[in-house]
Amino acid sequence: ALQVCLPLNALGFVYREARDAWVNAERLFALLRERPDIPETPGLPRLRAGPGEVVFEHIDFQYEPGRPVLSDVSFHIPHGTTLAVVGRSGSGKSTLARLLLRIYDPDRGRILIDGQDTRQLSPDSVRRAIGVVPQDAALFNDTISNNIAYGRIGATTQEIIAASKSAHLHDLIELLPEQYDTAVGERGVKISGGEKQRIAIARAILKNPPILIFDEATSALDLDSEHAIAQELDRLSRNRTTLIIAHRLSTIVNAHAIIVMERGRIVERGTHAELLRRKGLYARLWLLQQRQDQDLARHGASSS
Ligand code: ADP
Ligand code: MG
Repeated sequence: ALQVCLPLNALGFVYREARDAWVNAERLFALLRERPDIPETPGLPRLRAGPGEVVFEHIDFQYEPGRPVLSDVSFHIPHGTTLAVVGRSGSGKSTLARLLLRIYDPDRGRILIDGQDTRQLSPDSVRRAIGVVPQDAALFNDTISNNIAYGRIGATTQEIIAASKSAHLHDLIELLPEQYDTAVGERGVKISGGEKQRIAIARAILKNPPILIFDEATSALDLDSEHAIAQELDRLSRNRTTLIIAHRLSTIVNAHAIIVMERGRIVERGTHAELLRRKGLYARLWLLQQRQDQDLARHGASSS
């Protein structure tokens, strides 16, 4: 389990930097429930922060020999725009996010952030530029305040409260028995799927990164929470380069571009309107989801 002592405000800057580098990777992987494949190699240059432009160039990737997961995937996310990725379960969507975070490196092709090949950069510096709102955000057995602060070690109380207001968490926290000091996690107050998602959003707001990844949760949420969260994600992604893995297509109709994945390949790309006109896989998935939403509305959604 992670032992992070907060607050760090009283500590010296150098010490904070050093422990940040150590805590950062551990924490990120705990938050994402991922294990890093790429070790932190000392001496690699750090990402030179720019506007946050992302390029995938002819990416091939497999977890296991002989089982290709991504084949010749190329896309460009211009600074400040949103690219949505859709496709059936297992089509390789989350793998794109793992490669961007340098949890794995591609077998072929290049991933560029602001023109810099991520394979030649310190993984820690890449991850610092990217905020992630995962599908299933992890909570630690700690106060809700500290859970939000995992977004950025050393954040002040005022910053934590501001982030929680932006994520529409503040009013909710005020109702808890000990407000920001309320223990959450396995041994604390029960937190719903929607609230966990908001905590993840507050963490991302605190981190204030140029690049965002959303792996949207849906199964845990009713339509109303889904809609509220979609609005928050929308606001957060404004002026940031965003890769959004969309389970519910209604949340990405305004994305600047959409790619449709099937068995590790991009089979369609365009805007929502363009893809509907194509009457291909995207249009089929869209119709299917409309029908499911209507059923949900009729029979009532079970909220989490
Ligand atoms: P999606 O997010 O679209 O549901 P993923 O990117 O998670 O799909 O997975 C794509 C494929 O890679 C799936 O067939 C999945 O079973 C496989 N896969 C995912 N993670 C691993 C792993 N760590 N080891 C081996 N295979 C994996
Ligand atoms: Mg996935």
